[in-house]
Amino acid sequence: MHIKDRLVVITGAGKGIGRAMAVMFATRGAHLALLDLNDAGLKQTMNICVPHAATVKTYHCNVAIETEVITTFAQVASDFGRMDVLINNAGILRDGMLIKQDGDHFKKLSLAQWQAVIDVNLTGVFLCGREAAEHMIKFASGGVIINLSSISRAGNVGQSNYAAAKAGVAALSVVWAKELARYGIRTGAIAPGFIHTEILNAMPEQILQNLLAQVPLRRGGQPEEVAQSALFIVENDYFSGRVIELDGGLRL
Ligand code: NDP
Repeated sequence: MHIKDRLVVITGAGKGIGRAMAVMFATRGAHLALLDLNDAGLKQTMNICVPHAATVKTYHCNVAIETEVITTFAQVASDFGRMDVLINNAGILRDGMLIKQDGDHFKKLSLAQWQAVIDVNLTGVFLCGREAAEHMIKFASGGVIINLSSISRAGNVGQSNYAAAKAGVAALSVVWAKELARYGIRTGAIAPGFIHTEILNAMPEQILQNLLAQVPLRRGGQPEEVAQSALFIVENDYFSGRVIELDGGLRL
């Protein structure tokens, strides 16, 4: 797919990888619909993209709430009259060990921690993917749906919730590649390793240092390097249903 004049919808575009993706597609002449909970961040991303992108609009949307997602995607479709690319990027961390013994006491991963991550990182991807697919089918000009997975989908200590969600969204990319090909819709997933954004900095310092020391390239990735993977998936018309692993050679 050629990027110029296509509409790219990005969730979690208010900072980090989502912002880098917005900038990358803006410089290629795309129209942008930027979704996030973070209105100040959205505004900043928009201001960076406006000089490059054809049109930029922002939408306050919680990807975990079905009614908000349905309304927002309908509004985006109405505003732009097309829907070409969705990047399911919004994501959160609520790390914790499944269970940890401390003397007589057991600290457990709470249901609230579990549910928060599943709601945003898995259900949010399902909801946005479903709504985007409906509009792509109605516009009958194909499309591309990209889900942000993670190296943690292989199973990372302290991330039962996150790993389960990220394995889930990689699987959704495979399912949707099979179900949506008949409508000219391709899919893909990106499984980054450790990328320098706030979500990474929220990790306990010692765990972060230990993880980066194991990366063969000896560094974390940059958000722009993840954006390059999204660009590849969009531009390569034979890519569908697979996961790009962008982790500096690290394998958990
Ligand atoms: P950031 O935390 O930097 O940005 C995520 C954005 O998503 C924030 O603006 C956040 O808003 C927004 N967001 C959070 N919850 C919702 C919601 N319910 N609805 C809409 N927007 C929401 O994350 P990154 O840029 O680091 O990560 C982007 C994606 O890449 C995530 O899916 C993450 O899991 C994945 N990833 C990141 C890696 C990394 O090392 N950074 C590694 C592997 C995968 P607010 O600021 O209000 O919270």
